[in-house]
Amino acid sequence: MQMPLAARIDALKAERAKCICMNCPTYTKCAENFDQGFFCFTGMSIICIDHEVECLCPKCPVPQDTGLKHTAFYCTRGNEKERRYDQSLAGKEK
Ligand code: SF4
Ligand code: SF4
Repeated sequence: MQMPLAARIDALKAERAKCICMNCPTYTKCAENFDQGFFCFTGMSIICIDHEVECLCPKCPVPQDTGLKHTAFYCTRGNEKERRYDQSLAGKEK
């Protein structure tokens, strides 16, 4: 059964707190100023990040905690939901 909305928000906040993007070489001062992060859920960084250096997502506990399949460069390539959708469309083209 789905969790109540308040419990889902609390669970997401707890996962957000585990994000290690701010330690990543790809993360920028601009992203820090706008308090960006948690890109696996919020989607790619608008304005602040357009250059991939290295990604710490594979070392982050969030993908394993939340069942994410894609584990890298969410800030430049889109969040998990978008990437699964793109992948499903690509599969239909075959
Ligand atoms: S997987 Fe990446 S974007 Fe998601 S919380 Fe972890 S470090 Fe942040
Ligand atoms: S999503 Fe990955 S590449 Fe982007 S800032 Fe977070 S850890 Fe770094």
